[in-house]
Amino acid sequence: MPVNFKSRRPLLIWDIDGTLLEARGIGRQALNLTFSKLFHQNAAFDGLEFSGATDYDLIRQASATLTSTINVRVFLTAYLQYLADLLRESPLKPLSGVSHLIPRLSQLGWPMALGTGNIRGGAYLKLGAAGLSPYFPVGGFSEPGATRTDILHSARQHCGYDNDTAIVIGDTPLDIQAGQELGLAVIAVATGRFTRQDLLDANANQVIDRLGDVSEFLSLIRHLVEQKSL
Ligand SMILES: [Mg+2]
Repeated sequence: MPVNFKSRRPLLIWDIDGTLLEARGIGRQALNLTFSKLFHQNAAFDGLEFSGATDYDLIRQASATLTSTINVRVFLTAYLQYLADLLRESPLKPLSGVSHLIPRLSQLGWPMALGTGNIRGGAYLKLGAAGLSPYFPVGGFSEPGATRTDILHSARQHCGYDNDTAIVIGDTPLDIQAGQELGLAVIAVATGRFTRQDLLDANANQVIDRLGDVSEFLSLIRHLVEQKSL
């Protein structure tokens, strides 16, 4: 049965690592190379929790032990260069079903944005190498001092959805928490390092094992819309 959306279709806000693309630690590798080059310290990011983290926050944590001040602009320029080099050698692959689902949703006219802890340049390097950039012209990205909730808020604003509903698609408890802080429904995908049970325990509105089945995905959205009267 067709769903009557109260205003317009919900905006779909997508996480990148572990949701759209395989999370292979390439970002960590590029950050480590940058830190090593600039500060002669190896593996500075190895002990940090990357799942759901933002680039700026990771850099802040890694640089906490430095005696000198970090020039973030210089750091990020070097990081993007290392990331581009690594991706050229070995691009990240879209997760199972993503290459089918995303173009189809786009073709069907679903509004989509990014909501990612990557800085903007890093997000588009990763997506570009996987052929997914054209589907995500806007989004919320890591900015100085921005939490994941701020990032999702920013994604909504850029799309003119400040007061309209959005659905977050992510793979970590932090995606779920950030979405719910804004009163948004979250579809969690168990394709990152968290299991279906982890994501249910974190109160995801819906959990799926993989993306790819367009009918299944749209029926999840319809269910959320009906359930939450979006
Ligand atoms: Mg993720």
